[in-house]
Amino acid sequence: MSILTNGWAAYDEKAIFKPIKFKRSALKDNEILLKTLYSGICHSDIHQAKNEWGRTVYPIIPGHEIVGEVIEIGKNVKDFKIGDYAGIGCMINSCKTCNACLESKEQFCENGVVWTYNSCNHYDDNEITKGGYSDKIKVREDFAIKIPQNAPLNLIAPLFCAGITTYSPLKFSNIKNNDNVAIAGFGGLGIMGFKYAKAMGANVSIIARNNKKKDIALKLGANEYFDDVKKINKKFDMILITIPAKYDINDYLKILKYGGEIAIVGLPPINEDVSIKVNQLMPMAHKKIYGSLIGGIKETKEMLDFSLKHKIYPEVKLIKANEINQAYDELLNSGSDFRYVIDFNE
Ligand code: NDP
Ligand code: ZN
Ligand code: ZN
Repeated sequence: MSILTNGWAAYDEKAIFKPIKFKRSALKDNEILLKTLYSGICHSDIHQAKNEWGRTVYPIIPGHEIVGEVIEIGKNVKDFKIGDYAGIGCMINSCKTCNACLESKEQFCENGVVWTYNSCNHYDDNEITKGGYSDKIKVREDFAIKIPQNAPLNLIAPLFCAGITTYSPLKFSNIKNNDNVAIAGFGGLGIMGFKYAKAMGANVSIIARNNKKKDIALKLGANEYFDDVKKINKKFDMILITIPAKYDINDYLKILKYGGEIAIVGLPPINEDVSIKVNQLMPMAHKKIYGSLIGGIKETKEMLDFSLKHKIYPEVKLIKANEINQAYDELLNSGSDFRYVIDFNE
């Protein structure tokens, strides 16, 4: 039987959210159904609601930082029971047989990963996926992350995207004690990257574009806070760039040490993309730049364990679903809090 769901959708590039009722296809034998408790607002939701990456199918129901309670299970489900808490991040399906999937890098599935929203579930019934700005969501059990009963549910939804997206490159770059790390862009992702890099022992500086969050950064233990990358006169071992808009990558290469690494996770709109000239790269003495895309399911579980163990949580502001439009405005016009999370508990 199909699943009647209440959600919030944007209908065109103006990205104004209105209530929507829709049906999800019937629960499969290997799927669990969650009642949504909390759903974070990621800047990727904004990019896609506004069609800034050029592949949005409307109406779009975003949301890929989801904490929910299991209310129904398919008959072959082994690891979840009714009443468990589960998290869903950016993916709900993949082939599970290709080399990437076998290494639990499902985000790079060679046969195509299915994103939590705005994606076609081509392994199943070709449904266009609809995300966590809704009161119910279903997922294959092996794409759900078990949440311990005593976890702070109201804080952890953003871990399933902002958390894993910043944890993964810091691990990939092998950040350790006393490394000098800079986080560029101090929003929902940036603050998580900052907290993880500190927990890994690094000296962490923030690169922003104004002084609005300077006090909180210093209070949280930032080594230094820069309001303009062009004014920086020191060099870092690693820079994690979370900026969602156009910037000059050369500004960051200049402040990277010999042999250092830049990990890029921010994804600007396609018409504001960032580029690099080979003639500028050559004198940059073995400096490395790589992109990073969320993290696989195995690493997401590791990130959740690490976060709960070290009590690393986002800075969350809970809102009601009818405040999504206001939250988008604030995120786009600065002065925003770090992570808006929609509270579905009534
Ligand atoms: P937020 O809007 O929460 O934060 C973005 C931050 O970047 C803001 O603090 C903003 O500053 C800052 N910023 C903007 N321009 C500059 C600049 N030129 N220099 C320094 N700082 C700047 O966004 P999120 O953290 O949610 O997402 C960030 C990006 O990461 C998005 O593009 C998103 O799509 C992408 N993303 C990528 C993923 C991946 O797997 N690779 C996964 C998840 C997200 P201010 O406070 O002044 O506005
Ligand atoms: Zn996200
Ligand atoms: Zn695969």
